[in-house]
Amino acid sequence: MEQKSCVIIGAGLSGLTAGYFLTQNGWQVTVLDKGRGVGGRMASRSFAGARFDHGAQYFSIKSLDFQNFIEQLSGKRLLRKWNVRSDGYPRFALEGGMNGLPKRIAETLDVRTGQKVSGLQNEEETCTIITETGQRYAAHHVLLTLPVPQALALFSGQLLLSESDQAALSGIRYDPCWTVMATLTQPSRIPPPGGLVLETGPVAWLADNQQKEISERPSVTIHASADFSRQHLEDDPETVQKILLGAVATWVLPATVQMTQVHRWRYSHAAQRHPAPFLRLDLPVSALIGGDAFGIGNVEGAFLSGKAMAEALLALPSE
Ligand SMILES: Cc1cc2nc3c(=O)[nH]c(=O)nc-3n(C[C@H](O)[C@H](O)[C@H](O)COP(=O)(O)OP(=O)(O)OC[C@H]3O[C@@H](n4cnc5c(N)ncnc54)[C@H](O)[C@@H]3O)c2cc1C
Repeated sequence: MEQKSCVIIGAGLSGLTAGYFLTQNGWQVTVLDKGRGVGGRMASRSFAGARFDHGAQYFSIKSLDFQNFIEQLSGKRLLRKWNVRSDGYPRFALEGGMNGLPKRIAETLDVRTGQKVSGLQNEEETCTIITETGQRYAAHHVLLTLPVPQALALFSGQLLLSESDQAALSGIRYDPCWTVMATLTQPSRIPPPGGLVLETGPVAWLADNQQKEISERPSVTIHASADFSRQHLEDDPETVQKILLGAVATWVLPATVQMTQVHRWRYSHAAQRHPAPFLRLDLPVSALIGGDAFGIGNVEGAFLSGKAMAEALLALPSE
């Protein structure tokens, strides 16, 4: 029997999870990502001797599926309880930074980075995935796990979405998020355990990466609120940085700020989502779209969406 093949667009947690379960079941899987590395919004970076999580900060584990998956991959070693919210559910961070989980999954897969997908074509029974550099990948099935507005841009010409798929996808909305990372000459004044939710003002979240135990050097990550990020989305990063650092001066003394970097996330949290964990597109080729904008959202939702997409393909009758 011919080995079933799938190309997954997006090496964030949802795409990698789907790839993991398909590969475990004997499928031939290729994961394409436009980035230099894997993980998408589960992003960590280092500079000036400090380490930062600058995308997702922590995650919940409410489902047994997610718990089993992480324990199976890392034997619990990767997980750190980080109780920065008191709503009854523990929150977890990852040793060395949030990017560690996607990296660990990617080790088991054929992942091609630096591959920005620019279009899709239907050829007989296969789907051809075309990259900006002109490379072509053919597969029986395609999974789209990139943010939905970016996925919509891939459909043109011969392969157009149906009206009902358009309607289902056009309701999905993401919040933007400006992020400032700063190294400090002294520890911050953020109280233990090192994560602070701010209800008002331009900053929504402030994290001490040293208390979080991912950075040896004192360093903080600042996330602007969705409203502030939306209003200032096209502003100059320097101006945004100044406002955000000014807003946290009680906990991050201005005189202690040493080096900074700024990142603009156009898509951070999926604020309006599709209720199901994925959508099967009404196309002449087999294509599913998923990610954190489908189902419960966030890191755990991205995992559950990826797993559900893999299960849907695995349940298809043999060809
Ligand atoms: C600032 C910020 C803070 C957050 N905080 C939290 C938190 O504390 N807790 C929590 O649970 N969640 C948090 N989240 C949300 C969480 O990070 C996401 O829900 C989750 O990581 C999404 O995973 P995904 O696989 O659906 O998408 P992504 O991680 O976005 O993966 C999509 C991938 O597609 C790739 N891609 C895009 N276009 C193309 C293309 N044309 N060709 C090829 N590849 C492409 C991208 O490079 C990316 O790697 C936060 C997100 C941000 C940005």
